[in-house]
Amino acid sequence: MTELAPLCCGVAARLTDGREIYPRRTDLHHKLIYKCDRCGAYCGCHPGTTKSLGTPANSETRRARSDFHDQVFDPLWKTAVITGGYTVRDEREANRIRKAARNRLYVYLANHLGISRDDCHTAMFTIDHIRRATEILKDVTYLDIRAWHRALYRSKGKAA
Ligand SMILES: [Zn+2]
Repeated sequence: MTELAPLCCGVAARLTDGREIYPRRTDLHHKLIYKCDRCGAYCGCHPGTTKSLGTPANSETRRARSDFHDQVFDPLWKTAVITGGYTVRDEREANRIRKAARNRLYVYLANHLGISRDDCHTAMFTIDHIRRATEILKDVTYLDIRAWHRALYRSKGKAA
């Protein structure tokens, strides 16, 4: 029994995991996910629990997530080497910079959306999250995010 299962289409969603929902995303295979077998909508869980994150997402939400990834989120971190003005020696270093940029972008988004970093994953975003995230990242460059991140750690250093 999964008492915490969210309702969708008038019935409790079924608890499954990332192997069923994201077969090609091995990094998401361990994620617990609730799926509605009536309409195919799904949603993730808070890390380490069976407590659902929001409500199951239908195809409209999944399309919005995909568009957000392609048009807003990915371009910001994927171009970080160029927009950040880095000089890289090889592809490995470029990858490391892109990975750090992606993480900073998530920290930035989580902070501005008012959610925890663990809950901040585009695969878990609702239409509302996407709308707000798109607004938050409008006119924001990777340099802005890097500067914000630096200021955040400087203030944390002072507080400690
Ligand atoms: Zn449903």
